[in-house]
Amino acid sequence: MRHRIAVIGGGPAGLTFARVLHRHDHAVTVLERDPAPDARPPGGTLDLHEGMGQLALDKAGLLAEFRALSRPEGQAMRILDTDGTVLRDWQPRPGDRANPEIDRGQLRDLLLGPLDVRWGRGVTEVVPRTRDGVLVHFADGRQETFDLVIGADGAWSRVRPAISSATPHYTGVTFVETSLDDIDTRHPGLARLIGDGSMAVYGVNRALVAQRNSGGHVKVYAQFRAPLDWHTNLDRHLGLNGRAGLDLADAEAVRSSLLALFDGWAAPVLDLLRHGTAFVHRPLHVLPVSHAWAHVPGVTLLGDAAHLMPPLGVGANLAMLEGAELAESIAAAPGPEDLDEVVRAFEEQMQARAGRWAKMTTAGLERLVSPDPAEALALFDDVQPS
Ligand SMILES: Cc1cc2nc3c(=O)[nH]c(=O)nc-3n(C[C@H](O)[C@H](O)[C@H](O)COP(=O)(O)OP(=O)(O)OC[C@H]3O[C@@H](n4cnc5c(N)ncnc54)[C@H](O)[C@@H]3O)c2cc1C
Repeated sequence: MRHRIAVIGGGPAGLTFARVLHRHDHAVTVLERDPAPDARPPGGTLDLHEGMGQLALDKAGLLAEFRALSRPEGQAMRILDTDGTVLRDWQPRPGDRANPEIDRGQLRDLLLGPLDVRWGRGVTEVVPRTRDGVLVHFADGRQETFDLVIGADGAWSRVRPAISSATPHYTGVTFVETSLDDIDTRHPGLARLIGDGSMAVYGVNRALVAQRNSGGHVKVYAQFRAPLDWHTNLDRHLGLNGRAGLDLADAEAVRSSLLALFDGWAAPVLDLLRHGTAFVHRPLHVLPVSHAWAHVPGVTLLGDAAHLMPPLGVGANLAMLEGAELAESIAAAPGPEDLDEVVRAFEEQMQARAGRWAKMTTAGLERLVSPDPAEALALFDDVQPS
């Protein structure tokens, strides 16, 4: 059976879907808004779980290549008190491959492989049920029709409105991301503080998390509870006396505001902010927990487009697993007339599973960035192998 299938978005969900379908000799068109694979920084590191992201890579025939690239030592996790005391220091056991880390850029290149992605094809609107199939409108004015359109276009999906009226809402937690390069040579003290994997410090309604990527690159996330417009008045919204509005494009002003927000924390911890380069504002948005929609023939969603949830190490894993599962189901469908039933069954299973994860990660975020830092520690004690 041969359908005109398009996947919108070349993130973990879309590329895994396309790669697994490709492995089953099915044609699929990948339409990506970015003009080129390296058009923007690929982002930080992802831990891929054995039964989720790694399973998806196995379905794509890429597990061995993933193992060669990934960093099992990156599973190390250290938690510090705000005064710098080490409270927990988990190290992976030899041979532990439950959740190894991989840079997003490496994962993207691994998935891209032989795929023929059409870059620079930003979708603006998807119209189901036209005479010739599902109509896709592009930002450059072009349009094209397909039998099945998969929306894997992330948090602010342009496919989603074709089947659901849900939109993401702000969680009340903002991340400001910065990074350090060549940490082992330029900042050996900080390198030792972070260790081989991640390091986190939890305070009252705020946290600082540092994650090692490959090649001595470290991403740091300053996390705090604040209204969405916190930067318009730091005095009123964050209690930073005498500080008015903040220009988020002014790196030195952002650095100084974050240092004031985390004032009193141990000096080596604050060095992560002192030495950070650019600062990126990432207010966390989510879709409603258990986001579901009435099935619309010819259109479906995967990954963040379907179930954007707090970033607690699950989103990319789910996105990849869903991509692999949907592709396998499509490849196994007996005939063209079964395609719609396959997608409907997939949606039911995806929505139920994602709903459970959305509940867990929403509750997790409440505990990680909370008025009581002991909650964050207790959460890790619950989930980390002893
Ligand atoms: C700080 C942070 C840390 C995280 N850490 C982890 C982690 O450790 N483990 C984990 O599992 N998850 C993690 N996540 C979550 C994870 O990043 C997402 O769940 C995952 O990227 C979702 O994949 P996706 O393919 O659905 O969407 P995305 O990764 O958002 O990809 C969407 C793609 O669609 C493209 N696109 C967007 N709009 C259009 C359009 N209109 N037309 C065409 N293309 C379009 C985009 O350019 C992009 O390439 C983290 C998230 C954050 C914010």
